[in-house]
Amino acid sequence: MSGKFGERLTPIQRTVEDINDQAGLFTSNNVLVSHANLNRLEDLNTRWKQLQLAVDDRYKQLNDYGKEGAPPNHGFLSASVEPPWERAVTANKVPYYINHQCETTHWDHPKMMELMNSLSDLNEVRFSAYRTSMKLRTVQKQLCMDLLSLSAAVESFDSHGLRAQNDKLIDVPDMVTVLASLYETIAADNPSLVNVPLCLDLAINWLLNVYDSQRTGQIRVLSFKVGLVLLCKGHLEEKYRYLFRLIADPNRLVDQRKLGLLLHDCIQVPRQLGEVAAFGGSNIEPSVRSCFEKAGKDKTTIEAIHFLNWLQQEPQSMVWLPVLHRLSAAETAKHQAKCNICKEYPIVGFRYRCLKCFNFDMCQNCFFSGRKAKNHKLTHPMQEYCTATTSGEDVRDFTRALRNKFKSKRYFKKHPRVGYLPVQTVLEGDALESPAPSPQHSTLTQDMHSRLEMYASRLAEVELRTRSNSTPDSY
Ligand SMILES: [Zn+2]
Ligand SMILES: [Zn+2]
Repeated sequence: MSGKFGERLTPIQRTVEDINDQAGLFTSNNVLVSHANLNRLEDLNTRWKQLQLAVDDRYKQLNDYGKEGAPPNHGFLSASVEPPWERAVTANKVPYYINHQCETTHWDHPKMMELMNSLSDLNEVRFSAYRTSMKLRTVQKQLCMDLLSLSAAVESFDSHGLRAQNDKLIDVPDMVTVLASLYETIAADNPSLVNVPLCLDLAINWLLNVYDSQRTGQIRVLSFKVGLVLLCKGHLEEKYRYLFRLIADPNRLVDQRKLGLLLHDCIQVPRQLGEVAAFGGSNIEPSVRSCFEKAGKDKTTIEAIHFLNWLQQEPQSMVWLPVLHRLSAAETAKHQAKCNICKEYPIVGFRYRCLKCFNFDMCQNCFFSGRKAKNHKLTHPMQEYCTATTSGEDVRDFTRALRNKFKSKRYFKKHPRVGYLPVQTVLEGDALESPAPSPQHSTLTQDMHSRLEMYASRLAEVELRTRSNSTPDSY
C-alpha cells in the first residue's frame, strides 16, 4: 500500500526538486528572480513539506488502526461465548469474560474453566510425565492444535513478519491476527471439527495463562512461537530443530543465555498445569548446564546436533514433550493382547509388558493407576509399546523375560531399568509417605509439590531399597 502511494508521490517530489534546482541555477548565474516568483517557490516548498508530514501521519494512523478498541475484524470473537456470558476486553486489549447471571468477571473463558476442571481427573495417573502429557493432550485437542501442522505454523509466523523478531513483544490483537490465519487454514481442512472463534479465543486464553498470567497484554514473540510449536502436530525432531533455530545466532550457534530463554519458555507449559515440580522445578539452570556438559568440555556455544543429542536422552525438564508425542501415537494403537488385570482385549493405547513375569500384559489405565496383580510387582521392569508389536518384538521380550527370571536382585540394582519411566517418579505410599493414603486421588497442593520435588531427588535410593527388601506390595 505504502509502495503504491509512494509511486504517485515520486513525480511531485521530482517536480519540486526541478523547480528548486532551476531557482538555484538562476541565483548562481546572477539572474534576478521576481519577488512574486520567490514567494511562490517558498509556498510550494512549504506545501510539499506539509504534504510529506501529512502522509507520514496518515500512514501511521492506518498502521495503528487495527490496534484501536475492539477492531472490527476481530469482532467475530464475541461469538466465542453464549449468554449469560459476554466477552469483553480491557484497555490493553486483554479479553475477559462476564457472567451476567452471577455478575462475575473472569480472565478465563468458561470453556477454559471447564477444561481445567476436567484435567483434575487425570491426577490419579501415577507417573508425572504421563500425567502431564495426558493433560497437555487434552488441552491440545480442545484448542484443535492437534490439527495444526508445524509447517503451517512457521509459514504463518513468517508471513506476519515475525521472523527474527523473537526478542520483541506481541500484543493480543496481533496474536489474534496470526492465530486467525492459522485457524482459517485448519478449518478449511477440517470444517466440521473447528469452531474458529472458540478455538482462537481459547488459544489466546491458554497463551496468556502460560506466558502472561499477570495480563499485561503482551508476551514475547519467542514465547508465542514456542507455545504454539510445542502444541502443534508434527515430528518431534522437526520441532526440536525449529526451536533451536529460534534461538540460534547467524552462525547457527546458541549460548547458555539463549538456551535458558528457550527452556524457560518450554517449562512454562507444564508449570501452568501445576506439574513443574516433577520436571526439576522452574529453575532451568541445571538443564542448561547438563546440555552444555553433554556437548563437551568448556563449550561456550552449542550447535543443533548437541541440542538434539541432549534431547534424545529425554532430560527431566523436557521429557513431557516426547511422552506427549508417544501418547498421541499410541492413542489409536490396538494390541493383540489382553490386559492381565482388567481383561481388556484388545489393549488400546499403550501396552505394558512385564519383563519379569511370563506373558504378563497391562493396559495403560491399569499401569498408570498402579493396579496390582498376584505375582506381578510394581517394581518389575516393564516394556512400553506405543504401537502394536511385531512378532519379532514379542519374541525378544519372551527371551528377555526368561533371562530376567534368573537374574539376581543385585543385577537389578546395578542395571535399573528406567526405560519405562522416563523421569524419576515418586512411589506413593513408600515409607517416605506415611501413613500411605492415596495422594494421587487428591488435587496436589503447593505443599505437596515441594514435597514431590524432594521425593524425586531421593527416588533412586527409594527404588533400590524397595527392591532389596522385597516388600513392594506393602504399597
Ligand atoms: Zn487393564
Ligand atoms: Zn511382573
